Amino acid sequence: MQLLDGKLAAQAIKEDLKEKTSALLQKGKRAPHLAAILVGNNGASETYVASKVKTCAEIGFGSTLKRLPEDISEEGLLAEIEELNNNPEVDGILVQLPLPKHISDEKVISAIHPSKDVDGFHPVSVGNMVAGTPTFIPATPYGILLLLEHYKVETKGKHAVVIGRSHIVGTPMSILLSRKAYPGNCTVTICHSATTNLKEMTLQGDIIVAALGQAEFLTGDMVKEGAVIVDVGITRVNDATKKSGFALKGDVKFDEVAPKSSGITPVPGGVGPMTIAGLLMNTYNAYVSKL
Ligand code: NDP
Repeated sequence: MQLLDGKLAAQAIKEDLKEKTSALLQKGKRAPHLAAILVGNNGASETYVASKVKTCAEIGFGSTLKRLPEDISEEGLLAEIEELNNNPEVDGILVQLPLPKHISDEKVISAIHPSKDVDGFHPVSVGNMVAGTPTFIPATPYGILLLLEHYKVETKGKHAVVIGRSHIVGTPMSILLSRKAYPGNCTVTICHSATTNLKEMTLQGDIIVAALGQAEFLTGDMVKEGAVIVDVGITRVNDATKKSGFALKGDVKFDEVAPKSSGITPVPGGVGPMTIAGLLMNTYNAYVSKL
């Protein structure tokens, strides 16, 4: 069994981007710049955004964090996005989700200019992805592709079983794994809460991507020997032994599944760091596309 270490793979990507950025600066050019918008004080969102901004600094990217109050109006938020759309020094814009209930995610996502849509959620990016045209791919599935590539996981002709069909993970993952490219060329089955014979499906998976958000859902009896397991889930579970009072659990029961697998991502330290790597790659690509 090989540990598919997202921290290590992300580090390699960050080092490469750091070198490229430093070469740009040496040529007198500016660094790529990511602007993040955080609305309200959601604890998990704060952590995610902070980590994205910190990683930008680590590799020499510029970043802006706009903190907006929970009660900002939808128009107010759209105006902030428009300002970033028009700022030529900003390459990528991300609005951390979830947004407060009175704001439409759809409107906000569609307001980001497609050329700066580094989260890859804009309908134009989604359409391009489905059409197979180069575009911004949502950071988590992109990070997973980069991880499979880093560890040279064979994907051609494999049966990939994706659990979860969200717009940010499961659906794009299933599309990307089925495209005629590496990593991809898989036969893909996508499962969700209405799937009646889930175990029958997962037992067929040469590659399983678990993205359902149910702690330790995928157990040893649900996977076949030698499968490659990508655990996307992050669920906070109460744990009195931790200072924070909680532990982070993946969707996979690691101790049972790891011995049967040929490769598996840990939680934490698997898909999480790769998601940030995917976002940084998108930001760099947004910058380069303007050169
Ligand atoms: P969503 O809640 O949006 O989607 C979950 C999906 O799983 C849905 O399609 C749902 O089906 C399906 N599902 C839920 N329960 C079951 C079940 N018992 N059997 C089969 N399918 C089920 O979650 P996200 O896609 O946003 O995220 C999934 C997990 O990944 C979460 O834990 C999240 O925190 C984590 N995550 C981690 C990231 C990282 O960087 N590591 C990034 C993004 C997410 P249905 O559509 O029918 O409701």
